[in-house]
Amino acid sequence: MNITEGLQKVKSLLPSDVTLVAVSKTKPHESILEAYNSGQRVFGENKVQELCEKFEALPKDISWHMIGHLQRNKVKYIAPFVDLIHGVDSLRLLKEINKQGEKIKRVIPILLQFHIAQEESKFGFSLEEIREITSDQDFTSFKYIDVQGVMGMATNSDDQSLVRKEFANLFSIHDVLSKEIFSYTSSFKTISMGMSGDYQLAIEEGSNMVRVGSSIFGSRY
Ligand SMILES: *Cc1c(COP(=O)(O)O)cnc(C)c1O
Repeated sequence: MNITEGLQKVKSLLPSDVTLVAVSKTKPHESILEAYNSGQRVFGENKVQELCEKFEALPKDISWHMIGHLQRNKVKYIAPFVDLIHGVDSLRLLKEINKQGEKIKRVIPILLQFHIAQEESKFGFSLEEIREITSDQDFTSFKYIDVQGVMGMATNSDDQSLVRKEFANLFSIHDVLSKEIFSYTSSFKTISMGMSGDYQLAIEEGSNMVRVGSSIFGSRY
């Protein structure tokens, strides 16, 4: 299957209100252009340097998402152009994003990453942590951050009922937060969950943004 076919296949399985982030990490410019020429405009990368290079080289109407773990000292490089930062997982990172946004007078859209998987290694907040952070003085003063929703990764497992449960958990975290904390913003709408192996389950559990790489571009080596 080539990229255009892969893209069409994934799109045919997505409801129209689900945003597809085509995860192009490690893939060359030509691959991205092939997807672009088939109509895809939203792409996700997980390394700052690669993201910046591709932003410079590729069409300017691409919407670039940072989907990976983001180090604080690299926020400044993507602040001017990034359309959404998915993996925001600490108060210190929030502070840095706000600071870089303030410098260039740009409100930066972000998602809060939650730890929903069983694996130790996955990053993310717990609901308790986010309740604490959002009640912090600092948080309420962040004028250059637009919290648009939540993001999470399920356990990498064949156990569908486990994966489903983790997605359902993220959905309910979003629901709780939209009532408790973000009810004053209309932009807290995004639930970013689902990758090549599990996006159909994620959609069944309420995802409205999926991050799909290998099902479009082929496997990464
Ligand atoms: C690589 C990556 C994806 C896409 O993974 P595929 O299995 O290739 O679809 C999605 N989300 C994040 C955070 C990733 O790092």
